[in-house]
Amino acid sequence: MRIPIQEVTPETGQAEVIGWVHEVRDLGGLTFFLIRDRTGILQVTVPKKKVSAEVLSAIKETSRESIVRVSGVVKAIDKAPGGRELVPDTFELVCRCASPLPLDVVEKVPADLDTRLDARFLDARRPRVTAVFQVRSQATKAVCDYLFSRGFLTITTPKVVAAATEGGTELFPIAYFEKEAFLNQSPQLYKQMMMGAGFEKVFEIGPIFRAEEHNTTKHLNEATSIDVEVSFADHHEVMRLLEDLVVHVYRSVQETCAGPLDALEIRELAIPEAPFDRLPYADAIGIAAKATGEPIQYGDDIGTVAEKAIGEHMGAHYFITDWPTAIKPYYAMPYEDDPSVCKAFDLMHPRMELSSGSQRVHQHDLLVHQIQSKGLSPESFAFYLTPFLYGMPPHAGWGLGAERLIMTMLGLGNIREAVLFPRDRHRLTP
Ligand code: ATP
Ligand code: MG
Repeated sequence: MRIPIQEVTPETGQAEVIGWVHEVRDLGGLTFFLIRDRTGILQVTVPKKKVSAEVLSAIKETSRESIVRVSGVVKAIDKAPGGRELVPDTFELVCRCASPLPLDVVEKVPADLDTRLDARFLDARRPRVTAVFQVRSQATKAVCDYLFSRGFLTITTPKVVAAATEGGTELFPIAYFEKEAFLNQSPQLYKQMMMGAGFEKVFEIGPIFRAEEHNTTKHLNEATSIDVEVSFADHHEVMRLLEDLVVHVYRSVQETCAGPLDALEIRELAIPEAPFDRLPYADAIGIAAKATGEPIQYGDDIGTVAEKAIGEHMGAHYFITDWPTAIKPYYAMPYEDDPSVCKAFDLMHPRMELSSGSQRVHQHDLLVHQIQSKGLSPESFAFYLTPFLYGMPPHAGWGLGAERLIMTMLGLGNIREAVLFPRDRHRLTP
């Protein structure tokens, strides 16, 4: 019976393992194989004179990254990984690996990101790459645990839609029988409608599609959004929820991902401390103007350069609050005493934006007005607007980019490293 390599110890006695051939070293009379599975690496030592003809012929056929099944006695030995080696009685070539390899799995030959993504299945055999997705898996679990423990329902909303969430050009049109349809940019409208249904606390972890024109290191065309919406809550409440959640995810990864963090050469995560600073937009652009020498008009968007300058100044996670109503979506609630400013916020990591959220407009007529003032037509939002006529609670929420959360947590240089099969301007395969 096969046992995981991690569980092979000098006390195991007779053992059978199956794995990939990580490395082969032929020293004439002795051949050393390093066999790798998901759990670890085991040295298999073959004294050629002492093994059967069958074993010898299997060994000859075995190339790197082939899969072999090996059984034999485990012995303690100082120099081998994990302080043990296996001397095989049987050595079976289960699946021969073609050569040359499109990518060096043991990373002796460095590869650029494009080559790695082209051969993602091989790239992901590397412990450092596996580790990113182990952390991502744990982070996803931590998000779900946190939200479930607070009474949230997880929901699934359509990805094929008839109207844009926010208008704009970031949409992918698709052929949907005789109708015009799009891939959804965000579950925004649907999660708000579920506030009208009385679900009170919902979340969805799902894909969002954005036809971003530019190839940047922080944009994907298919990204994963962690979306939350809460009834009877204002922007302050969901900001607290968001910062608590982020801290919880960091802690959970720190506590449960020792192996992956080790593979990533991260001794300790920089766990952020809540509460994060709240920086009003007006102050944020002041900081950016001072740092960059480039004046920013009140009402201008905060671009990448300004974002970076403010991030350096702040040095930790922070919120930008009190945005001009004009540059936030129609569903962000304006302040009652000054409607030119709204109850919207962005959660920022010093390197980039992680999340946008707000208290939402829950009054039907105000919402119609706001849609019109953005130059959009309320008719195309009829399905969304109708629930606001039939008892819509005040509510608030946010959308948090899963890949950006992982990327900033692990200090990855490119968002594509946090996705198994990224979709960008040029990449539609694998
Ligand atoms: P940015 O200004 O950085 O492009 P955004 O303000 O357009 O982001 P939102 O619509 O506010 O993005 O989406 C909420 C969150 O979803 C973002 O803060 C980000 O973490 C994530 N996100 C949005 N678009 C993308 C994308 N193209 N690739 C990766 N993540 C994204
Ligand atoms: Mg945003």
